[in-house]
Amino acid sequence: MIKNIKVALVGNPNTGKTSVFNALTGLNQKVGNYPGITVEKKQGSCRLDRATKARVLDLPGTYSLNASSMDESVVVELLLNKNDPDFPDVVIVIADVVNLKRNLLLFSQIKDLEIPTVLVINMSDQIKRKGIQIDLEKLEKKLNTKVVLVSTRQNLGVSQLKQILVNYRSIPNTPMFDPTSIDKEYFESLKKAFPNQSLYKLWLVITQDINFTKLERQKVPDTTDFRTQPKSFLKKLQQRETIKRYQTINQILKQTYKVNLQEATDLRSRLDNLLIHKFWGYIIFFLTLLTIFQAIFDWSTVPMDFIDNSFVGLSEWLKLQLPSGY
Ligand code: GDP
Ligand code: MG
Repeated sequence: MIKNIKVALVGNPNTGKTSVFNALTGLNQKVGNYPGITVEKKQGSCRLDRATKARVLDLPGTYSLNASSMDESVVVELLLNKNDPDFPDVVIVIADVVNLKRNLLLFSQIKDLEIPTVLVINMSDQIKRKGIQIDLEKLEKKLNTKVVLVSTRQNLGVSQLKQILVNYRSIPNTPMFDPTSIDKEYFESLKKAFPNQSLYKLWLVITQDINFTKLERQKVPDTTDFRTQPKSFLKKLQQRETIKRYQTINQILKQTYKVNLQEATDLRSRLDNLLIHKFWGYIIFFLTLLTIFQAIFDWSTVPMDFIDNSFVGLSEWLKLQLPSGY
């Protein structure tokens, strides 16, 4: 008996979602559109092991679940709706190793929806070139999930990812972040009104409505009372949420992720290493400013004198050419 699981790929634009999708599904792909809108829908399937098949959905790129475009809205509405035939058993968040911090914002939000969420750190071929050091074990512990280093370019980590998907049930789906820390009063009363619902899911239903589309009411709890707040108040809570999330993420990355420019090998990182050096950085900065001042106050006399002299010459010449009186 073959087991079928549903997998959704989520991530910021350009982190390699489609590359991972291709690496997983190969030629078993189908491209269509979401009903009623022109956002592309890519689906595919693959064999994970002898007893398990996966249906993989490549979702549009999104920076956060605070949707502000049609593309992003597709992602939120799917993840909020357990009755959707595409609702995933497990979500893969694809992050790129160079911009891990920004990618983890989205990860933290999806984790809070209490769906098993795996973190793929893609483009791991860049780790050495950029002088990056990751403490994978600690990162897994802090994020409370499985983390896989993948390079679709070098075909690394894909089979490990498949193995993790097979055992997706062992991934904890506990949330990362407690929304009551955003605004105690508001979220306590929300919790009281819907004691059996995930708090963050409720919050998304509310903000999705004020930001974008009206969700179908029979599919999600009716939070009308909590949406009647002034829009600016809800926006402020949303901003506070983002700040709080980044605080948590910064804490985690401080202990698990380091960029050591001295060990980087690509040209840009090496230039960075010199230009932001504790000592030479200031010297280079000072010399650059000095050159600009020099250019303005000293070298500028050359073109200024040239313009001056040309006009003097021109008027002398005109004086000689024109009849007297003119
Ligand atoms: P999507 O927008 O998330 O679907 O990302 P794509 O799959 O289209 O990839 C975005 C860019 O990242 C492309 O230029 C890929 O060639 C590049 N890319 C994808 N995977 C890797 C990788 O493992 N290593 C490197 N260095 N680049 C990659
Ligand atoms: Mg893509």
